[in-house]
Amino acid sequence: MIKTKTIQIAQEVVDDIICNICEKSLLSACDNYEGLSTKFCGGYGSKIGDMTTLDVSICEQCLLDHIIPMMKISPYVIDNEDEELQ
Ligand SMILES: [Zn+2]
Repeated sequence: MIKTKTIQIAQEVVDDIICNICEKSLLSACDNYEGLSTKFCGGYGSKIGDMTTLDVSICEQCLLDHIIPMMKISPYVIDNEDEELQ
């Protein structure tokens, strides 16, 4: 016979994602996170520090206002609304 009991397990979940530039949430009115979240991992001798990881999130508005204008090559744009589901 197997006896069971109910236990609570603490789990870390995403509560919000905040833009590193403007400190606003990336959460949209549709409950989607819209923006860019990425990690930069530096190896040995990296300019950001040996074996250092930077965790960065940028909202859509800051992407449009600050990041894209700095780009020498414009980002490739994919319009997903034109794609049909198969
Ligand atoms: Zn922002």
